[in-house]
Amino acid sequence: MAELEGLEFGKSDFVLLDEVTMEQFMENLRLRFEKGRIYTFIGEVVVSVNPYKQMDIYGKEVIEDYRGRELYENPPHLYAVADAAYKAMKRRAKDTCIVISGESGAGKTEASKYIMQYIAAITNPSQRAEVESVKNVLLKSNCVLEAFGNAKTNRNDNSSRFGKYMDINFNFNGDPTGGHINNYLLEKSRVVQQQEGERNFHSFYQVLRGGSDELLKSLYLQRDPAEYAYTSQGASASNNDSLCHKAVMAALKVIGFTAEEISSIYKILSTILHLVSPTLNALEDYLLIFASVFLSVCGQCCLTSTEAENARKTLLYRTVATGGGEVIEKGHNEKEASYGRDAFAKALYERLFAWIVGRINSVIEVKDYNPALHGKNTVIGVLDIYGFEIFDNNSFEQFCINYCNEKLQQLFIELILRQEQDEYQREGITWQHIEYFNNQIIVDLVEQPHKGIISILDEACLTAGKVTDTVCLDSMNKKLGQHPHYTSRKLCPADKTMEFNRDFRIRHYAGDVTYSVEGFLDKNKDPLFQDFKRLMYNSSDPVLKEMWPDGKMSITEVTKRPLTAATLFKNSIIALVDKLACKEPYYVRCIKPNEVKSSMLFDDGRCQHQVAYLGLLENVRVRRAGFAYRQPYARFLQRYKMTCEYTWPNHLMGSDQEAVEAIVNQHGFEDDVAYGHTKLFVRTPRTLFTLEQERSAL
Ligand code: ATP
Ligand code: MG
Repeated sequence: MAELEGLEFGKSDFVLLDEVTMEQFMENLRLRFEKGRIYTFIGEVVVSVNPYKQMDIYGKEVIEDYRGRELYENPPHLYAVADAAYKAMKRRAKDTCIVISGESGAGKTEASKYIMQYIAAITNPSQRAEVESVKNVLLKSNCVLEAFGNAKTNRNDNSSRFGKYMDINFNFNGDPTGGHINNYLLEKSRVVQQQEGERNFHSFYQVLRGGSDELLKSLYLQRDPAEYAYTSQGASASNNDSLCHKAVMAALKVIGFTAEEISSIYKILSTILHLVSPTLNALEDYLLIFASVFLSVCGQCCLTSTEAENARKTLLYRTVATGGGEVIEKGHNEKEASYGRDAFAKALYERLFAWIVGRINSVIEVKDYNPALHGKNTVIGVLDIYGFEIFDNNSFEQFCINYCNEKLQQLFIELILRQEQDEYQREGITWQHIEYFNNQIIVDLVEQPHKGIISILDEACLTAGKVTDTVCLDSMNKKLGQHPHYTSRKLCPADKTMEFNRDFRIRHYAGDVTYSVEGFLDKNKDPLFQDFKRLMYNSSDPVLKEMWPDGKMSITEVTKRPLTAATLFKNSIIALVDKLACKEPYYVRCIKPNEVKSSMLFDDGRCQHQVAYLGLLENVRVRRAGFAYRQPYARFLQRYKMTCEYTWPNHLMGSDQEAVEAIVNQHGFEDDVAYGHTKLFVRTPRTLFTLEQERSAL
């Protein structure tokens, strides 16, 4: 067993603080960070501070230390939570999930990878080939998803620009048999526009920097990202793009993508890059060149003029059905044409990403599992999703992301309290209700049918004619003016931190966020001319065709409006929450110590802010009011019977409970425990630490 830490490293569980105050919490967090102890428990929750340097704490020996151990037997670690989730799943056939939260750059994705590596390392001791292959695909999928879904931002050089939830399925032996990935809200606007210092998705630079000359030639690509408008705006390529390209290619092959599929993926990337060429000014020239490149990369080998003409037309015109059922072609003006083209680029990438996720799923999906034969198929879910975002300018994306965090916070409150309450009730223990802020009211503000912000947005998007963002804001002001968590400059004219006719503010559980309504309607409607869909559907590249099934409809058949972006997102988050709610949850709360990626700097202000909005103090209070640990009498006895003269080597008492009482009394822990019907409840981990220490001293 690994050595428990000494007190010079601070308290390894925040529940042990003398007083639950922000000062004490921060002091402990800082001390531990400075001593290189990046993990601290709150009961079963792990609080993690990004070390911004490689730590020697993830090796094989460390994995062995945590394997099959109880949480309090080892210093806090991601492995302890991973093992707890795994044990619950294996021993009690419970579906479990590990929810990893925190802001951008806090270390969520790294944590999720360590957790997956741990699970891979402790399973399949008999090295069965089919299980090894499942594990390999699960691990390799990270590399591919990061290439296509991550980008350099000003906050994080490898920022996930999508939310990821991965289910890992296990058979009755506790070995992985497959999995499923859900992705949420890819930030597709990045494909066409990046802020200063940021980049497009890694995949573009990787193929440009790392693709073979042959590949680039076949894709009509130049090596330099500066050649292409979509990759020339932000920061330049990073050093490891080329290496990453090779790793991604290898991963795609291991996962089982065929050569044709891999080729289609790169053709699509190339098509997107060619959509804008800054080196060609004359529109007609450009369009002709684009059309031929487009048709070559999309798999139509003989370039007939009609096909080139089709691609060209799609960028310049749109077909519309008139009231009388007549179909006419309407020319775009320049603004409409470039808007349409950008929408097309974003959609191409989004569908490519979704297709890649779907293709990975088709490989790892559990096939032919027969519960009658194999026992219950259990699941561990790992959620790595964007944390709360409060920027200087907050738009539709932040609105969606913050709504998602409200939902997850609601779940956290629900599950942590509900679980505790259920257990105390079952075991006949009296429970003191703890006051906490219930953020359901904010969730309702956003998602309530007819009255919530999403409904008002959708209504505005459905209204024919020119409903502008400002008109929509007016409508929100009218309907939500009385809501305690909603305000705008119109409702609060004195508040100069908001702009008239542009901003609205939501009082989120994590703090106030001012959103600019500019662009909300467009991002919510997310329009894409049907002509693009048809063009793609008619491609002779089977992969491309598969991505655009909705291009099958002709213009007169397209009657139903697609769901809006906000509604689609809302539905996916509700489905996610439903999935998580029926699992036993484990939490990793990630904290970013500073804004400059330094391994030395602990920025008190920034950390305190995160501790506050992650609700960590509330978490400690709930944990302290309840009982930190519980164990069935027989197990407790088995583990600690050597620490008491009445129970060693065997007890002669009537029941295990009485024997446990003897141990508790002999140590003077009476005030720290409660006796349930089947389990002993221990309020503070210190009691167990003491017993643990006594046990190892014997
Ligand atoms: P985003 O929301 O932007 O995706 P994130 O929370 O997923 O952010 P990560 O990408 O996991 O953040 O971490 C950011 C960077 O911090 C990593 O690229 C790595 O350099 C460093 N880092 C995070 N966790 C660790 C760790 N445990 N050990 C060493 N470095 C780490
Ligand atoms: Mg990430």
